Amino acid sequence: MSVNQQAHTGPPYGQPQPGYQGYQQPAYGGQPLPGVPQSQYGAYNGPMPGYQQPVPPQGSLRAPPTSGAPPPATGASLPSGHLAYSQFGHGDVQNGIPASAAPMQRPPASQPFLPGSAPTPVSQTSTFQQYGPPPASVQQLSNHMAGMTIGSTTASAPPPAGLGYGPPTSVPPVSGSFSATGSGLYTPYTASQGPPPTSVSQGLPLAQPPFLGQPISTQRLPTQVPGFAPPPSSTGIGPSSYSPATGAPRPPTMPGPPLSGQTVAGPPTSQPNHISSPPPPSTMSGPHPGPPMSGLHGPPPPTHPPQPGYQMQQNGSFGQVRGPQPNYGGAYPGTPNYGSQPGPPPPPKRLDPDSIPSPQLNELPPQQKPRHRIDPDAIPSPIQVIEDDRSNRGSEPFVTGVRGQVPPLVTTNFLVKDQGNASPRYIRCTSYNIPCTSDMAKQSQVPLAAVIKPLATLPPEETLPYLVDHGESGPVRCNRCKAYMCPFMQFIEGGRRFQCCFCSCVTEVPPHYFQHLDHTGKRVDFYDRPELSLGSYEFLATVDYCKNNKFPSPPAFIFMIDVSYNAVKSGLVRLICEELKSLLDYLPREGNMEESAIRVGFVTYNKVLHFYNVKSSLAQPQMMVVSDVADMFVPLLDGFLVNVNESRTVIASLLDQIPEMFADTRETETVFAPVIQAGLEALKAAECAGKLFIFHTSLPIAEAPGKLKNRDDKKLINTDKEKTLFQPQTSFYNNLAKDCVAQGCCVDLFLFPNQYLDVATLGVVTYQTGGSIYKYAYFQLETDQDRFLNDLRRDVQKEVGFDAVMRVRTSTGIRATDFFGAFYMSNTTDVEMAGLDCDKTITVEFKHDDKLSEDSGALLQCALLYTSCAGQRRLRIHNLSLNCCTQLADLYRNCETDTLINYLAKYAYRGVLGSPVKTVRDALINQCAQILACYRKNCASPSSAGQLILPECMKLLPVYLNCVLKSDVLQPGPEVTTDDRAYIRQLVTSMDVAETNVFFYPRLLPLTKADVDSDSLPAAIRNSEERLSKGDIYLLENGLNIFVWVGVNVQQGLIQNLFGVSSFSQISNALSTLPVLENPFSKKVRSIVDMLQVQRSRYMKLIIVKQEDKLEMLFKHFLVEDKSLSGGASYVDFLCHMHKEIRQLLS
Ligand SMILES: [Zn+2]
Repeated sequence: MSVNQQAHTGPPYGQPQPGYQGYQQPAYGGQPLPGVPQSQYGAYNGPMPGYQQPVPPQGSLRAPPTSGAPPPATGASLPSGHLAYSQFGHGDVQNGIPASAAPMQRPPASQPFLPGSAPTPVSQTSTFQQYGPPPASVQQLSNHMAGMTIGSTTASAPPPAGLGYGPPTSVPPVSGSFSATGSGLYTPYTASQGPPPTSVSQGLPLAQPPFLGQPISTQRLPTQVPGFAPPPSSTGIGPSSYSPATGAPRPPTMPGPPLSGQTVAGPPTSQPNHISSPPPPSTMSGPHPGPPMSGLHGPPPPTHPPQPGYQMQQNGSFGQVRGPQPNYGGAYPGTPNYGSQPGPPPPPKRLDPDSIPSPQLNELPPQQKPRHRIDPDAIPSPIQVIEDDRSNRGSEPFVTGVRGQVPPLVTTNFLVKDQGNASPRYIRCTSYNIPCTSDMAKQSQVPLAAVIKPLATLPPEETLPYLVDHGESGPVRCNRCKAYMCPFMQFIEGGRRFQCCFCSCVTEVPPHYFQHLDHTGKRVDFYDRPELSLGSYEFLATVDYCKNNKFPSPPAFIFMIDVSYNAVKSGLVRLICEELKSLLDYLPREGNMEESAIRVGFVTYNKVLHFYNVKSSLAQPQMMVVSDVADMFVPLLDGFLVNVNESRTVIASLLDQIPEMFADTRETETVFAPVIQAGLEALKAAECAGKLFIFHTSLPIAEAPGKLKNRDDKKLINTDKEKTLFQPQTSFYNNLAKDCVAQGCCVDLFLFPNQYLDVATLGVVTYQTGGSIYKYAYFQLETDQDRFLNDLRRDVQKEVGFDAVMRVRTSTGIRATDFFGAFYMSNTTDVEMAGLDCDKTITVEFKHDDKLSEDSGALLQCALLYTSCAGQRRLRIHNLSLNCCTQLADLYRNCETDTLINYLAKYAYRGVLGSPVKTVRDALINQCAQILACYRKNCASPSSAGQLILPECMKLLPVYLNCVLKSDVLQPGPEVTTDDRAYIRQLVTSMDVAETNVFFYPRLLPLTKADVDSDSLPAAIRNSEERLSKGDIYLLENGLNIFVWVGVNVQQGLIQNLFGVSSFSQISNALSTLPVLENPFSKKVRSIVDMLQVQRSRYMKLIIVKQEDKLEMLFKHFLVEDKSLSGGASYVDFLCHMHKEIRQLLS
């Protein structure tokens, strides 16, 4: 059963409370809940009886509830109240989300525990939120506008195709430097929720599906958008691309190859073959031979049919080969009325696919060359979509009062105002409008998933979740499903009872929680209670939620340092010890506490373990050696875990002595599992949770439990046995992980390998305990210490919860069925994490188990029980309400591709553990083809089969999916090591949406275009070699690495300013940082690098790449729109392939 139970002698969370066990046990065991799927509603506390009448622990430390007497509600002034609720279908009884306009002033009194963050009253600005179906026109308008900015992609004019640089030798450099880089690369990062713009706007209400049932076509567009000024139709290409991200229909991104007649440039329908029969994926990437570009010739534009022209594009239709669609282009210039109207004559440019330059031509074998070259500018551009969303949605706050609202993209800076639903910083969904039936969901193949980051860091402008203390009685919960009180519960019978929004069960309101209802049926203390009016908040947990019915002790951090030969010789041991001397003063603290409650301990090891007694009363630290690693125990209890301030002198002395003690070591072998066991035993003895920071260098081959052998074998790649490379070589670590989770022992691993050390196996415990892995291959003090120290500092200081259990409850009709992330599960519903930090996400997939209704929508409630860094037991609750639809078009209009990619990548990366990589890749392609084919079949306006039509919200699905397919896990290049792949696989599994977004589609910035006088970043460009100019310098970042690419023709002055050398040839690519030079360009570039480093959760490795230098091969690997050396398709080719797949499905 549950891990916890095994670990403890007594029933985990207290015997008296059967409740707790329940939380470990799936769904209430035997309590059959009528109509309620068991697994779905298990509560943290199992059987309700246990919970319902929690027996106040004797000697409970808890103070009386402070929030008892809420100030008079100001709510009366909310006129919009009724309206607001109507949408939730609660009828008169309302307790839904606060009406948007209602100002919510929360008395500080109710948030006794909020550390530091003075509960600033959340005065919610009254944004007008339309509860009713929001006017579609608004959205459309914005979309439109977005659409207009098309030209931007082209801003950085692509250099002539086929830049002269040296043809990539197909073999990556094998040199040490290379590999070092390679592995180093992978340091994960975090997301970037940069500082929100000061002014944020309220998210545009999702447009209600304008066209239910109707063919999507024409009408949706911007007809309603008066006044929008069309952007100049610049290159003719762009028209399409662009539209805003959210749900509303946007103009088609790319003028796809239109089918014959309608669009202009497309190849004649008669030649559909071209697209439909692209070369097999692996070969597709070939260049297309087209005649070099000329923009103007090409087949004469077809006559545009009046209607279809524009409309089709709206859906994001792509014709077969793309040419700009005539209508589209025409319409923009000046004509507000596109819609169904035929636009002005199409611009004559670039219509012919054949006329577009094809950079890769020469690379392709003749037989593979497609007949037509698709204009890369005409296919959906990630850059354009990102820019459009920024300009449309970055200026106003995203207010969460409206159900089913699609948030701005993760790449947009925006502020969030919580008005009843969790911020997108905590939860993002693949779709905010989910199909009412399982059949619809299956038909669409769109996965229903939420990416949850329960402890996400918020920008300073946003309010941390309020901490609510209900005293000894604990949080109010539904009697049946155990859902926690939230804004969607409906109070009835004058406030004496409430009906659960998840399972409909009616529960008595405990006397201490009773409050009268106002004339709208809302409690008069509605705005005074975070749990009634906000999407996210915390409850102080009672002792019932604690292991063994005891409040937890503060956690401990144990630093465990490998002191074998390599670690000492590289200077690593000395570096770590020096750093710890100061870092220990920055351990996480709760709120305004003066010092951290976390205790620390130290262990060093090679083939044996050395424990240190650093008790404050000692003059010198004492070492105790344990050489019997087969049966690990901790040789001392008193003096091992200490308070930093009390033992400061002894600790400093120890850290000074360690490097000296092992300076002459000749021991090269290490153990590993016993190290974790030692840390685990120490925490058990201290009866606390905690984290182990293990600094390790090699494959543990010394005789000991968990001993490993080198089983790396690259010959397994592309065979049925490839999956074994991702699997642990022994189950020993799985069992150890289970024990660690039971104790709340989280393991963070810092690896410094010079060769294979089996990350797939060593990482098991880290992964299952919610820890982090950092890898610094070929660690060299000079080049890697900054990166390592920055990572270590952040890792030690970041917010983290311990001994965590998360459960996601859902309203009737759907339930959480699958989970992805770094955690352990002992049953089907509870996600257990020994530690959960602010950067970790859990992706949860949902499936139908009944019908949903459009009226009531669907609700999610994520409850995380954890111990804070000061040892306080808390529950963090996040609620989210979604819309439900009976029309597929509504689903497609409210999807979020970035989140979809996050889910698909995690799904695929888990898949490689059990299936051949090719099978996983094929399944991904197939699923996406089905998603797009379903849209085409059921939502798009009728058009020729030769035309590729993508839903606006998913127009980037092909390009992003291709990036996932080409990633090192699914299609490794020759230089990628087995450890790199295992490492990346684990990293991605915990990434949030912003992280996966930039990881799979890196950000590429032209540094030479940066405005040295402003704080802004230069506009990003697409990840393709043809976008690079020999005369410029670029920066590429993916969350793990930053590349600075220098073209061969960059002006000498720029080189001097940035690198301090006089010529291109003198630039050293061994630099790991940019020199500090006193000139505006140097300052600007360094400030950009610094800004990016701050945005990510890991310190990115800086790599200087000179054009035509051998390192360029590595850099090109990240130009993800191009064909990759490992056989990955180019974007254009992949799009053709997807089109073919879709056509096959439709035929
Ligand atoms: Zn319930």
